Amino acid sequence: MELVKLEKQYFGTNGVRGVIGIDMTPQIALEIAEAFGTMLGPGKTVGLGRDTRISGPALAAAIHAGFLSCGCNVIDFDIVPTPCLQYLVRDHHLDGGVMITASHNPPEYNGIKIIEADGTEMGDERTIRLEQTMIHKEFCCVSWDKLGNATAEPHACERYICAIVARFPKDCGRGITVVVDPGNGPAIATTPEILRRLGCIVHVINERFDGTFPGRLPEPTAEGLCELSAKVVETNAAFGVAHDGDADRAIFVDEHGRFVDGNITFGLVASYFCSKNPGGVIVTPVSTSRVVEAVAAVYGCSVNYTVVGSIYAARTMRTLMEEGKPVIIGGEGNGGIIYPNHQFCRDGGMNAATMLDLVVERNQPLSNLIAELPTFTMYQEKRRTRRAKEIVAHMQVYFAGCPTDTRDGIRIARGGAWALIRPSGTEPLVRVYTESKDADEAKQFMDEILGQISGYLE
Ligand code: MG
Repeated sequence: MELVKLEKQYFGTNGVRGVIGIDMTPQIALEIAEAFGTMLGPGKTVGLGRDTRISGPALAAAIHAGFLSCGCNVIDFDIVPTPCLQYLVRDHHLDGGVMITASHNPPEYNGIKIIEADGTEMGDERTIRLEQTMIHKEFCCVSWDKLGNATAEPHACERYICAIVARFPKDCGRGITVVVDPGNGPAIATTPEILRRLGCIVHVINERFDGTFPGRLPEPTAEGLCELSAKVVETNAAFGVAHDGDADRAIFVDEHGRFVDGNITFGLVASYFCSKNPGGVIVTPVSTSRVVEAVAAVYGCSVNYTVVGSIYAARTMRTLMEEGKPVIIGGEGNGGIIYPNHQFCRDGGMNAATMLDLVVERNQPLSNLIAELPTFTMYQEKRRTRRAKEIVAHMQVYFAGCPTDTRDGIRIARGGAWALIRPSGTEPLVRVYTESKDADEAKQFMDEILGQISGYLE
C-alpha cells in the first residue's frame, strides 16, 4: 500500500507555517479555526496547545474566537509539547486539537498543526477540504445562545508524563545521570520529569519558557548543542538529550558530548526494537539512512518506505497494522520516532525514555553502542530552483539503466549507493541525498547528480 501526497495550498507537510506579520497572522489562525470548527460542527470540543513562541498567545486568542463562534468548545492546555497535545486529544476523547508551533523554525515564525480525534495530524484529503472551506469562507457561525465554552487545563502534562513512565521498567534509570536541553521550549514541563520518575539524576539547561530562545535556536544542531555537550562531560552524564521547538523530535549527544545524527539514533532504536521483535516491520520515509535497513536485516525484520513526512509514515504504520502486519516502530532520520504502542505520532519524550532504557539494558556507553552500528556516509544538498519536476524527469532518463523508485521524487540505486532527488514540499528547492558505505562512492554520486541538474538551477 502506498500513500500519495495531494496538493495543498496553505498547509505543508507539517501544517501551516510562516513569519508573523507577513504570512502568518491572527487572521489566518482565525480562519483555520472557523474552517475546522465548521467541519466538526457545533457542540464538539477541541484541545488547544502552543509552544513557547512570543506570538503564541495572539494566535491562541484568534483560534479561541474561531472555534467559539462556530459553537465548538475549547480546552486550553497552554504550553505543551506537540506529542503531549496529541496524547491529550485522544486521552480526553476530544473531537480534535490545534497546536500552535513552528517546530524547529526561528523565533519570528509560527504555525498551526491540526490534530484529529485519534491524535494523528490531519491527513491530506481532509486538509484540502479544510482549505476549501477557508478559501470560500464557508464558515458556519452559530447564534448567541449556541456559542462554545472556553475552559483551561494548564497542568495536563501530568497524564502524558505518567503514560510514558508506565511503559518502562520501574526505576530503570537509577544511578544514571542525564542532561536535558529543552531549548526554552515546552519539553521543560515533561522530559526532565519523565527521566526523574524513571530514577535518573537530571540536569536541565535552557530550562525557562522563553520564546526569544536565548539559549539556542529551536533546531537542535551540533553547533546549537555545544552547551549541552559541555554539561554532559562536566556531570559525567550517560547522554544528553535536546528537543526541537515543539519536542516531537529528540536529538542526542553521547557520554563524550559528541553529537549523534538522527539517522544513527533511529538505527540504534530500530536495532533495539528488532532484537525484541524478530520479523517485525519498520516504516520510514525514503530519505532515511540505510543503517535502519541494515540493522533490521540482522533480525529478519523489513523496512517499508513511504513518501517524506512523518504523517505519511504514521498513517502507513496504522494501515499496515490494521492489515495485520507486525509494525514495531516508525520514524525519520531527524530525531522523530513513532512508537505505535504509545501513539501514532513522533514523540520526543518517548525518545528520551527509550534511549535511557536502551543504554541501561545494553549496559554499555552510548558511544560503544553507536560504534557497533554499520557505518554509512550520507551527503545532503539543496539547490534553489522552480524546475524541480523537470529535474526529476531528467533524472529518470539519465538513470534509466538503474533501478528507480518514484514514490517521492526519484530514488536511484546504483552499486552500493542510493540517491534521492526530490522537490521540497514547502520551498522552491530540490533536495538531493546520496549514501553509501563507501564515502567516495557517495560523494561521486552527489557530484555527478549536481552536475546533471546545474542547468535547471536559478
Ligand atoms: Mg517539531
